Amino acid sequence: MTQTYATVKDVTCPFCGLLCDDLTVQTNGPSAKVVQNGCAWAVAGFAQQPGTASASIQGRPCTVDLAIQRAVQILIGANQPLIAGLATDAAGCRAAMALAEKAGAAVDHLHGNAISSNAVVMQRRGWIMTTLTEVRNRADLVVLFGTDGDSVNPRFIERCLRPRPGMGRNRNRPRKVVFIGEAAEARALKRALPAALTITCRKQNQLDLLAALRALANGQPGSLPRSLAGKLPSLKRLAELLRSANYSVCAWAPGQLLPDQADIVIESICGLVTALNEHTRAAGLALGGSDGAVTAMNVCAWQTGYPLRVNFAGGAPEYIPSRNATDALLQRREADALVWISTFHPLPPPGGLHNIPRIVLAPPSRKLAGLADVYFPVSTPGVDAGGTMFRLDSVVGLPLRQVRSTSLPSAAEILNRISGKI
Ligand code: SF4
Repeated sequence: MTQTYATVKDVTCPFCGLLCDDLTVQTNGPSAKVVQNGCAWAVAGFAQQPGTASASIQGRPCTVDLAIQRAVQILIGANQPLIAGLATDAAGCRAAMALAEKAGAAVDHLHGNAISSNAVVMQRRGWIMTTLTEVRNRADLVVLFGTDGDSVNPRFIERCLRPRPGMGRNRNRPRKVVFIGEAAEARALKRALPAALTITCRKQNQLDLLAALRALANGQPGSLPRSLAGKLPSLKRLAELLRSANYSVCAWAPGQLLPDQADIVIESICGLVTALNEHTRAAGLALGGSDGAVTAMNVCAWQTGYPLRVNFAGGAPEYIPSRNATDALLQRREADALVWISTFHPLPPPGGLHNIPRIVLAPPSRKLAGLADVYFPVSTPGVDAGGTMFRLDSVVGLPLRQVRSTSLPSAAEILNRISGKI
């Protein structure tokens, strides 16, 4: 058998919100292997085999036409369909929104809680944010709140923190990194990068520390509960670093904060950033954004004016995030049909589905075919098909390349065909 190797350079990786665009991938027929610049997530993602799965109904292989017919029947018969997961590229998200409008469905993303925590802060108070390029090239101080960075975006430290700033007043000066968070994350960061200052604290104490830090940064005496009083000298040192920096960046990963206080912690960090701008330049950066989270949020915002968790059941998009969350719709048993989209990994739909019909679009997976009422094996954007995705800082839409050829349809193709019949 003849083997055809090809080396593709400057490939954009779709497997986390960083969208690194410097990978080298070697392909051989249906196989793709990262040979340069990929992290473990990228290596595993590109190594997923496209397989030869066919569409199926109740686990039995069928034609795509028949599966589409069954999906249409399910959606027409449902009172409250839910389109969730939504882990795909911009074209897939656009097609999902069009289907939601036609089917009267609610729309949410796999990382809907994290997206919502950021979105409510942006809506409530506004925020001053920066980009990955600015962090890499201009920031002389980066404070990581509750995240080591690499556990949500595995090359964040390598790409953005380790290089010396390349532009402006901080050009070629060493960058300071400060960590505030759990001891385990502090140890993980220490293995990757020496921090100028580490302040360990439990997640449930983050708000107390942030309140004290904000007061200190404003030149006021900060106070802490007695159990945390030992942290005050370190917070004073951090306040000095923040006030004397030319350009500081405060970063967080919403998915790593405690869910019941994530928005308040983010609001508090954004308040600190605003206060710092009285004295110097500072900005925020939300890490994470994987599985197409930022792409889904942007597409939903273009098309409805709202950042996800919208519901078309009443004809027009209704935005009530707590009510339209995947978990909430399933727990209240309101959703009576699920379209689950997971094109980067064959992730199963959430539990607690109380026997509602499941229409699944994901890369080939026998397990998923067995779980789904209707299953469509689809291509992975950036591996099997081209596309566009938004980076975690939401300012750059990057083109994705097809690095290997498969006969799998894209999620957008399947969703558009279903929409066309409703
Ligand atoms: S850090 Fe993210 S985008 Fe970069 S190679 Fe790893 S998974 Fe891909």
